[in-house]
Amino acid sequence: MTAPYAAVVGWPAAHSLSPLMMQTWLDAAGLPGRYGVQEIPPDRFQAFLGAAPSLGLCGMNVTLPHKEAALAHADHASEAARQIGAANLLTFTAQGLFAHNTDIEGVAAALGSTPAPGPAVLIGAGGAARAALHHLKCLDQEIRIVNRTRTRAEQLAADAGVKAEIHESTDTALAGAAVVINATSLGMAGQPALTPDFSACAAGALAFDMVYAPLRTGFLAAASASGLRTVDGLTMLIGQARPSFEAFFGAAPPGDDGVRAVLETRLGAAP
Ligand code: NAP
Repeated sequence: MTAPYAAVVGWPAAHSLSPLMMQTWLDAAGLPGRYGVQEIPPDRFQAFLGAAPSLGLCGMNVTLPHKEAALAHADHASEAARQIGAANLLTFTAQGLFAHNTDIEGVAAALGSTPAPGPAVLIGAGGAARAALHHLKCLDQEIRIVNRTRTRAEQLAADAGVKAEIHESTDTALAGAAVVINATSLGMAGQPALTPDFSACAAGALAFDMVYAPLRTGFLAAASASGLRTVDGLTMLIGQARPSFEAFFGAAPPGDDGVRAVLETRLGAAP
């Protein structure tokens, strides 16, 4: 029997940390398998899906800009992928191509699976925010959404069937917040920082930054300085990769500590 082969598919995709993560887990678990990178432009994505089994692929992770197309071309989809409107995991099954969105598991790894004792503030209204909103909705959490473009936040809430307060600035949104999530691209290398005034948050509040490059962001530094607990973007990145590994290689990956150390070194963030 040949070793399972999976890949991350994007345009571009060479920067992806997924191959390093998957190989670290394969080595630690002593499992046979390969995980590669496929850079596929949007106009070739559908044809690539048709050809993928003949390349030996048992499945793939899908990254920008293919996440919506991945869902559209699948034969079956999880409820979560359908609700979010995007997929980042495709597997070839006897029943056809199956789409799932594992960003939900990533958000759950960061936030846990019990509701916070107060409002959750979601900053951002793009693809990553959709996954976070789905998780918050499942927790029946009180939600505030902050986004530069108000209409996009309103659309996000409407699509998710969520009743949320909409704000255009964190200045008005953080009073009494128990959770604050950065799901914008602010704070990424080359982007302006996001450093809200966290002082109005509830005692014991949690700040979660989805950004992982850099890993130590201004958002997390400001939250920490105001006494908040913090969770970084690697927790989500690793959390969303775990179900993919299991789907491709047939076993749960080893614990997070080893792979986190490897990724921190790659990101230049090792302590
Ligand atoms: P996206 O769909 O492009 O959405 C970007 C969001 O950032 C939008 O809400 C946008 O607001 C906002 N934004 C961008 N520039 C801004 C600025 N100058 N001022 C204020 N708001 C600004 O991106 P995405 O795919 O959701 O990704 C968002 C972040 O999540 C990225 O940093 C990404 O790396 C991270 N992420 C992390 C993980 C993980 O596993 N840790 C997974 C997925 C994504 P408008 O609507 O007003 O344009």
